[in-house]
Amino acid sequence: MNKKYRRVIIAGNWKENMLPSQVHDFCEALRKEMPESANGSSVVLCVPATHLAALAKEKSRRLAVGAQNISEFDKGAHTGEISADMIADLGAKYCIVGHSERRASNGDTDELVNAKIRALLERGINPILCVGESLDQRDRDLTMEFIAYQVKAALYGLTPEQVKKVVIAYEPIWAIGTGRTATNEQAQEVCFGIRELLRRQYGALISRKVCILYGGSMNAKNCAGLLAQPDIDGGLIGGASLKAADFGVIVREGSK
Ligand code: PEP
Repeated sequence: MNKKYRRVIIAGNWKENMLPSQVHDFCEALRKEMPESANGSSVVLCVPATHLAALAKEKSRRLAVGAQNISEFDKGAHTGEISADMIADLGAKYCIVGHSERRASNGDTDELVNAKIRALLERGINPILCVGESLDQRDRDLTMEFIAYQVKAALYGLTPEQVKKVVIAYEPIWAIGTGRTATNEQAQEVCFGIRELLRRQYGALISRKVCILYGGSMNAKNCAGLLAQPDIDGGLIGGASLKAADFGVIVREGSK
């Protein structure tokens, strides 16, 4: 799975699942599933904010702490919000931004996604930017136009050096939590399209460095084919990241 210019990232997205008190046991079980050698790959768990402190105790060279959302504000009168500084203080190295569930239900617009990415980068946290088309957009052959718009809007105003630190997760909405995975070819086509877009915007050196993940019903059975694609540098995994044994299969595949 050596991608030569990029490391492989296997990231779990726990969404609103599990309890802080379950983090330790899960990580114990996951450690047993980890391969001898990471072969340059990284494993990240993106957990609810309430779980970050527990996860920070488990972090290691092999397991990084990830969050699922932050506020675009640094600090102040924003009741209920959590800043990039706060998650950085708890050891977060990654944070999901623009997940389709938040775009659909929590008002995460492209502008907000851009502001959150800037806030994360200022604190040294790698954003995991999620983009993806609906089934209707795919059926109307608008996939690449829509994805290009989302990527450009999210990265607007960033320097090429900052863009290199952004992880992009291609997550077709119709594949998330549905059990319906994109085919290897569909996933590769869009991930290649994203890399081409980055090449045009920021040059070949940058586009070669950006990690592009696939997400959408990736599991122990289908991960090998997806991760073998030349422009897919890992996975963002929801349901299958909740069981250490299933997630372990994907982690091992990513470290081959
Ligand atoms: C996700 O929510 O990012 C995701 C990919 O979920 P699932 O793997 O369950 O489709």
